[in-house]
Amino acid sequence: MNLRPPSRPAASRPSRPTTQPPAIVNALTIDVEDYFHVSAFESVSALDTWDGRELRVEANTRKILSMLAEQGVTATFFVLGWVAERCPGLVKEIEAGGHEIASHGYGHRRVYTQTREEFREDVRRAKVLLEDLGGQQVLGYRAPSYSISALTLWAFDELLEAGYVYDSSVFPIRHDLYGLPDWPRFPFRVERLEGGNWVPAEGGDVGQRGGEAARRPNPDLLPNAPAAQPPSAHEPPRLLEIPITTLRLAGRNFPIAGGGYFRLFPYRLTRWGLRRINRTDRRPFVFYLHPWEIDPKQPRICGAGLKSRFRHYVNLDRTEARLRRLLTEFAFASMRDVVSCPERPSREAGDLARARTEGRPARLLRDFSF
Ligand SMILES: [Zn+2]
Repeated sequence: MNLRPPSRPAASRPSRPTTQPPAIVNALTIDVEDYFHVSAFESVSALDTWDGRELRVEANTRKILSMLAEQGVTATFFVLGWVAERCPGLVKEIEAGGHEIASHGYGHRRVYTQTREEFREDVRRAKVLLEDLGGQQVLGYRAPSYSISALTLWAFDELLEAGYVYDSSVFPIRHDLYGLPDWPRFPFRVERLEGGNWVPAEGGDVGQRGGEAARRPNPDLLPNAPAAQPPSAHEPPRLLEIPITTLRLAGRNFPIAGGGYFRLFPYRLTRWGLRRINRTDRRPFVFYLHPWEIDPKQPRICGAGLKSRFRHYVNLDRTEARLRRLLTEFAFASMRDVVSCPERPSREAGDLARARTEGRPARLLRDFSF
């Protein structure tokens, strides 16, 4: 984990003290899928054509793994089951690098295009596969294209029953393909009401609301808690939701923390927005990227619409350098570490202890205790 001040060329170093990195450790997440899996291409890249396409996810993910190793950063890799099946060695390499393995489902189908039974099969198949290959419990799930919507909240039932502990599929923005714009911006407990509906419950937006009750340590939200503390008959079923972080400006949420937005926006704008979340909201952010986003030489998918092609191909040649820079200017760790997990590998615990003695306390536990 890199908690040192960024080393930047003298010529580009501003004189103001704003170059100091935020003390907060943020969550770095990689959705491990290939260029032909993306939802925007699904009409021209059906599942039965995938095996005929050039597989580039392995090399691109390895490149990210080596970048992270250079910086001493761990991350959460939401691996697609389809990829894990074809690249079992890659899952083992992710595990060997000290990273968290989480699930991106099996077949990269958006939740609202599946029946509940199909979704159940998809998330269970991926979890079993990843746990067999990675040798670690898979705690987290992220839906393809953040596709848990108001119409598919039953997905939380299925995730809970499949043994997932947290979900990271909620993107609280307005968007043509996804989004639950009114849901909290920071980790919260999502709870099932008696009628079967799932709602954000106590704990959301701690940084927004403040208050002692919201900050009270709540160990049953920790990733390894459910086995030790099963909910009583009187408590409603619940999952931890870790949404994709948004930037709050003028009463609206804006996307800022990864993917196409990271490629589209100038790097300085992304950095300004992310720093604002660390400094103004005083919260870690959840950043996400896909291995194909650092691969400008990927084969082009024919037949996709103009908007989809723009979203997919814009600035692919700039993203690797931007990611390298981001890794030097912010502190990152995996989701399970940022959310606080007692099973955190000892070397990372050591990093956190060192950060504290350096006077820039890693805010992991405090910020996600609610
Ligand atoms: Zn995806």
